[in-house]
Amino acid sequence: MNGHTSVPHSYDYDLIVIGGGSGGLAAAKEAAKYEKKVMVLDFVTPTPLGNSWGLGGTCVNVGCIPKKLMHQAALLGQALQDSRKYGWQFTEEVKHNWMTMTESVQNYIGSLNWGYRVSLREKNVTYENAYGEFVGPHTVKAKNKRGVEKLYTAERFLIATGERPRYLGIPGDREYCISSDDLFSLPYCPGKTLVVGASYVALEYLFVHMGF
Ligand SMILES: Cc1cc2nc3c(=O)[nH]c(=O)nc-3n(C[C@H](O)[C@H](O)[C@H](O)COP(=O)(O)OP(=O)(O)OC[C@H]3O[C@@H](n4cnc5c(N)ncnc54)[C@H](O)[C@@H]3O)c2cc1C
Repeated sequence: MNGHTSVPHSYDYDLIVIGGGSGGLAAAKEAAKYEKKVMVLDFVTPTPLGNSWGLGGTCVNVGCIPKKLMHQAALLGQALQDSRKYGWQFTEEVKHNWMTMTESVQNYIGSLNWGYRVSLREKNVTYENAYGEFVGPHTVKAKNKRGVEKLYTAERFLIATGERPRYLGIPGDREYCISSDDLFSLPYCPGKTLVVGASYVALEYLFVHMGF
């Protein structure tokens, strides 16, 4: 014995997951199954229009889920039009109310945000609505929306911070354009729209939009 004994480090958590989207939440719940002490930090930086959202990340709040709901709304409209050819007769003029649809979509998302919080609590995963930033090899600073900062330590970290749409970087882009992050809560139908980009997100929007 040389007198040196290795003192095991004591951390606040076994694992801190930065990002509460599909990836981060799945990993956090999986780690908790193995009796690990887990924390999730999730924070949404507001869009240029000032929108932000709850726990669940892109897919739940501004991605797959609202996209599919709006797609379904567009299909229903199309089905109504097609139905006349198949003998359905209705005298009332059929109109679409964009705000009613948006409210339904947002209410559904709200229920999912709540469900995610409950499921983390049930699995003893600590959730904090705060932005995580490394300040040391085993330490993150978590800053909440009121600007309150706390330090947390963990043996391991998982970075699951996803991605956000990028603006064009040309004059007027933030004043006159919106991204997918703002479409699902837009209080009015955007009408005639130029879609810049031709990724699956852009193309899906185009098809959904054509339904209204
Ligand atoms: C319009 C649209 C439609 C889509 N449709 C589909 C689909 O039909 N099917 C499909 O499979 N995929 C779809 N996707 C893709 C899917 O949404 C993403 O692949 C998925 O959400 C990525 O999950 P993630 O956990 O990696 O990141 P995210 O879900 O983006 O989660 C990351 C989270 O981390 C937070 N965060 C970032 N930095 C920090 C930080 N420093 N501290 C704390 N929190 C932070 C973010 O705010 C966010 O909440 C769609 C995406 C979009 C935009």
